[in-house]
Amino acid sequence: MSELLQAGIEAGGTKFVVALGNAEGIRDWEKIDTTTPGETLDNVMDWLDAASQEHGRFDAIGIGSFGPVELDENSARYGSITTTPKPGWQNVPLVRVFAERFGVPVGFDTDVNAAALGEHLHGAGRGIDPLVYLTVGTGVGGGVIVNGGPLHGLLHPEMGHLLIPAPRRSAAVDAEGQCPFHPSCLEGFICGPAIAKRWGVAKAADLPSDSPAWEETGETLAHGLVNIALTLSPRRIIVGGGVVKAPGVLASARRHFQKLLNGYLQVPRITQDVENYIVEPGLGDWAGVRGALALAERAAGG
Ligand code: ADP
Ligand code: ZN
Repeated sequence: MSELLQAGIEAGGTKFVVALGNAEGIRDWEKIDTTTPGETLDNVMDWLDAASQEHGRFDAIGIGSFGPVELDENSARYGSITTTPKPGWQNVPLVRVFAERFGVPVGFDTDVNAAALGEHLHGAGRGIDPLVYLTVGTGVGGGVIVNGGPLHGLLHPEMGHLLIPAPRRSAAVDAEGQCPFHPSCLEGFICGPAIAKRWGVAKAADLPSDSPAWEETGETLAHGLVNIALTLSPRRIIVGGGVVKAPGVLASARRHFQKLLNGYLQVPRITQDVENYIVEPGLGDWAGVRGALALAERAAGG
């Protein structure tokens, strides 16, 4: 392992994962509960101090954060979480806090762009460009790698809120979409909490493996995947997050993806080899942290 270390932070709504490492891998890491911004960030910074005492200095920090976040470097709010519904976390200036405390360059992006970058460099998306990383967990979100780096735009991709048709003839106890903004968006039907609410259980993972929820979740996910494939023409779509760990969800998504496209995209990767088009993450749950380390390396000029 080379000597230079970076710090990577995956800033999530439930937990932060902070690591020291570099492109070779992770040297040390810790999980920290997301509570108030003050307490959470203090804990992250204390861990970084202690870890760099033990393992050596780091020359940059990379942060992949839940959002929405401000990625426009010309904005006064650059590097902040902006309008999140998470109490206390609106307008938290993550980049400034870490830059001031440690005096090193800080790279910043969305959690899903960081995960997409991690998978692109070290996981199931190596050499694949454009690449989409979609996560279906507590929320639904998507990151995009194009021309070797994360795609930013007016804001950043918000694929969780792709507008899709509501599941037909749903057997769910509550058939409604659960997003407070949209009656019929991807996240409103298939994020973990939406599945739990719609199918009347405490947690999505409590549903049995033969529940019709999983086939329907795959079909609804497929609508999102079709729209992504038609819009961005990615060479591969990686789908991660807790919900796709449920048996049958990805298989259902692949089957409905082909059915919904109905032969329109005539490329073998989709017509014959869809298992290699819609794939699981190669890095498991580590994509975000590995991506955050890569953001740090890029911020340092690496
Ligand atoms: P997060 O999105 O918070 O980073 P995850 O990607 O692990 O975390 O997603 C958590 C969500 O996924 C929860 O709503 C949980 O109920 C659901 N989940 C986790 N494991 C499973 C599973 N094996 N089957 C179905 N749902 C699951
Ligand atoms: Zn929505």
